[in-house]
Amino acid sequence: MSRTVIEGCAIATVDAAHTEHAAGHIVVEDGRIAALGAGPAPEGPGERIDGRGRLATPGLVNCHHHLYQWATRGLAQQATLFEWLTELYPTWALLDGEIESAAARAGLGALAISGCTTSTDHHYVFPQGSGDLLEVEVDAARAIGLRFHPCRGSMDLGRSDGGLPPDEVVEDRDVILAASEAAIDRFHDPAPDSMLRIALAPCSPFSVTRDLMADSAELARQRGVRLHTHLAETLDEEEFCLELFGVRPVEYLEDVGWLGDDVWLAHCVHLDDDEVALFGETGTGVAHCATSNARLGAGIAPVVALTRAGAPVGLGVDGAASNEGAVLSAELHQALLVARLAGGPAAMTAREALAHGTIEGARCLGREGELGSLEPGKLADIALWRVDDLGHAGIEDPVAALVLGAPARVDTLLVGGRPVVSGGELRTADEDALARELDRASRKLQQVEVAR
Ligand SMILES: [Zn+2]
Repeated sequence: MSRTVIEGCAIATVDAAHTEHAAGHIVVEDGRIAALGAGPAPEGPGERIDGRGRLATPGLVNCHHHLYQWATRGLAQQATLFEWLTELYPTWALLDGEIESAAARAGLGALAISGCTTSTDHHYVFPQGSGDLLEVEVDAARAIGLRFHPCRGSMDLGRSDGGLPPDEVVEDRDVILAASEAAIDRFHDPAPDSMLRIALAPCSPFSVTRDLMADSAELARQRGVRLHTHLAETLDEEEFCLELFGVRPVEYLEDVGWLGDDVWLAHCVHLDDDEVALFGETGTGVAHCATSNARLGAGIAPVVALTRAGAPVGLGVDGAASNEGAVLSAELHQALLVARLAGGPAAMTAREALAHGTIEGARCLGREGELGSLEPGKLADIALWRVDDLGHAGIEDPVAALVLGAPARVDTLLVGGRPVVSGGELRTADEDALARELDRASRKLQQVEVAR
């Protein structure tokens, strides 16, 4: 039996009773939380981690990402979403396995040091001849050691058919459906302690046909996997849907059978009151990407109203081409700030922001039974944050220190009890080597583009 004990730390469990301890202990046995409470841990064998000056929270859950975009950061800096996509699609068409590997490893490494224990990824660019890019990112997640929910994404509505992406980055619908089924067969693990679950994720209303939306939903429900896509990110998208489908984005999604508690959607910035209520009634989840929405000037999602309506709202960094930092702990801070910009200083508390980054994210991914809070019996996905350093010292409330203070780097990160970060350092890869490989991959992509 493997056993690890953390003691002396503040603990915010994010359980249903909002239990917190000013100084407590967590005992981890064989990948699960065996005991948790106030004061010192009971005597016993195993490694002991000194948690003094630290806050323990559930590991953060990242509900929306595009890891490949780590190789295309800092481009189209002043663009709207549609301008930004139109500028970047031709570069993304040159993606290959080597670039994907460097980008995914860098992105997952960066997530780990920002306290993330579970991440999704929405990969929808599969240039012809680029190999199995989904397998490449699965390998990257195994190497870095994060729990991973990659989406087999897709685009089949090219420019010549009225879509936004150029024809060379879209795929044929039959190819997409066969690859989606193969991804489930090969990688999806439905077990409660699963490290890898597949979801199906046609990209967006303006890059996917109605038929692919409906067929993907049917396949996902036959196979018991979840559905994900982008929705209502900008007013340009709303205009596109009204023009092409004659309805607003949410009505379009409802028409193709895409509202339900097995669906979570990125952004959902432009929803009206009836649409917010419909998300609550159907249990449709939302991945709130506050920094990306600000970077692209898209607007502020109605997170408080969605939460009040009962819809799960998790947090996402989104792709690093529209959120160059992609620091998940900073999204706690951002979510709180944009909620208050929209609704005043009482709109969101620090603890509500932490819940969005943990248990609400777990709900979006259908993992709230085993992830998202610190409770005996749950998987030992634990973030231990330093709150006694310059960015946080003197703030008596440790949750306020984490959410309102400087963006925190995690001190210790356990995924299923296994250390991915300790002493503030990534243990599963060399951070400097990840940065060098990312730099090489980004340059390669840009040189290929120049030479084209
Ligand atoms: Zn996105």
